[in-house]
Amino acid sequence: MIEFKKELGRENAANYIILCNELNCPGLQEKFPNLNFDVLRQQKNLKILCPFLNGVVMFVDLGHLPYHKIKSKLCKITAENKSMFFDMHLVVSEDYSNESLDAVLSGIGIGLYDIGLYKEKKDPQLFHITVDYKNDFDLQKLNYSVMTQNHVMNLINAPGNKANAPILAEATKSSAKDYGYSCQYYDDSALESMNMEAVRTVGRACKEFTGMLELEYKHPDFKEKPILLVGKGVTFDTGGLSLKGSQNMHFMKCDMGGGAAVLGAVELIAKLGLKTHVVGLVPMAQNSVAGNAVLPGDVITSYSGKTIEIIDTDAEGRLLLADAVSYGNKKYSPQVLIDIATLTGAAVRTFGYECAAFFSDNEELFQQFNGLGKTIGERIWRLPLWEEYGREMNSDIADIKNLSAKPMAGASTAAKFVEFFTDEHPKWAHIDIAGVAFGNNPFSKDKSATGYGVRLLADWIEENYCV
Ligand SMILES: [Zn+2]
Repeated sequence: MIEFKKELGRENAANYIILCNELNCPGLQEKFPNLNFDVLRQQKNLKILCPFLNGVVMFVDLGHLPYHKIKSKLCKITAENKSMFFDMHLVVSEDYSNESLDAVLSGIGIGLYDIGLYKEKKDPQLFHITVDYKNDFDLQKLNYSVMTQNHVMNLINAPGNKANAPILAEATKSSAKDYGYSCQYYDDSALESMNMEAVRTVGRACKEFTGMLELEYKHPDFKEKPILLVGKGVTFDTGGLSLKGSQNMHFMKCDMGGGAAVLGAVELIAKLGLKTHVVGLVPMAQNSVAGNAVLPGDVITSYSGKTIEIIDTDAEGRLLLADAVSYGNKKYSPQVLIDIATLTGAAVRTFGYECAAFFSDNEELFQQFNGLGKTIGERIWRLPLWEEYGREMNSDIADIKNLSAKPMAGASTAAKFVEFFTDEHPKWAHIDIAGVAFGNNPFSKDKSATGYGVRLLADWIEENYCV
C-alpha cells in the first residue's frame, strides 16, 4: 500500500524530489542550502540526478505541462527508479500548483504499482514517502484515490480464474463492510427470478460465474434522487460462439474494466464520506463457449421486455448494460444515469489510447465530464448519437439487434443500443473506455490496467452532486 505523509523540513531522507516551476522560486534555495542551483539551472533534462546530502536529488522540472503529461512522466520516472521510493522526500515549492502536485503524486502512486500479483516471491513494497508542502492540498483524498485505483487495477489485472463474479462479489462485500456502503449480490438464479435474461444469456455457458452487484452509498444530508452508475463486468470475454482469435485473447480479462471503475468510484466516494447518494450496478458474466451457449441469431427477451436478436455473441457487453440500465432506472428513478464499459474496438480504432469515447445529448453532462477529464488527465471526447446510427440496429424479427450489419461507426451504434434501454432518460451518458482502461504502462512488460474511470466518476459526483 502506498501512502504519502506530510512532513516539513525533513533532512534524513535517502532521496529527494524537488517540485517547482522555476528554480529561482522563493524559498527553494533556503530549503536546500547545500545544493548548487546554478548548476541545476543549466540542465535541460526533465530528470537530473545529482549528489546531495546523504543521497540523491531527483529534480523534476515539469514547467507548465498539462495534468496527464505530468502524471505519465512521473509514473515512468517512478517505475524506472522504484527503489529510490523506499525512502523519498518531496519538497514542493510555493509556485507549484495543487493541480500539478496532484498529477505528480498520482503518477508516483500508479508508478509504484506492483503488477506481480501472483508471484511466489513478492517485491518489497515498504515505501516511506513524505511530502513537504504548505498549501491547502488534500493529501488524504489523494491517498484514498491512489489506494482505490490500485485496488481497481488489481481487480482488472487479475485473470478470469481469479476475478469471476463470485470472487468479485466477495471482494466488494468486504470493501462495503470496511467503508460503509451496502452491497447486494445476485447470482444466476436470483437474476432468473428478476427476469434479467440479457445478463444471463451472456453467461449461459458458465452460470456459476454469472451475477450482478448492486452497491448503494447514501449520505443522510443528500435528499435528492440518486446518481446511478452502471459498469460492464465481463470477467472474461472469449467472444462466445462468435469466437475471438487466440492472439491476445488473454487481454480479455480486462473486459470488466467499466465494472471495476464503478466498484472503485463507489468505494472512493464512501471513503471520502461525500454528501451524496450513489448507486452502482455491475452486471457480470464470463462470455464462454459450451453446448448451451447462446447462438448467433437467437432472440431473447431483456429485463425491459424488449426483445433482442443476437447477431454476434461477441457484442455481449451491451446486453449486460441493457438489463442493468433498465433495472436501475426502474428501481431508483436516478436523476443522472451513467454507464461505463470497455465496449468497442471501434472506440480504440478512433481514439487509440488517448481518451474515452463519450456519448450524451445532455450538454451539461458533456461539459462537466469534458472539463474534469482534462483537469485530472482522464480525457473524454464526444461522439454523436444521431438517429441514423440507431437505424442500423433495427432487427427484422425482434425489437433491436445487438450488432449493426455494417462494419462502421461501431462505437456509435453500440451507444445507440444502450440508449434503447434508457427509457429516454434526459441525463444519460455512455462512456466507452475500451482504449483507456487497459494499456501500456511503465511498470509492466505486457498491457495492464490503468485505473481510468475511478476518479472521473468519483470526482464528477463530488463536483456536481454533493450537498
Ligand atoms: Zn465481446
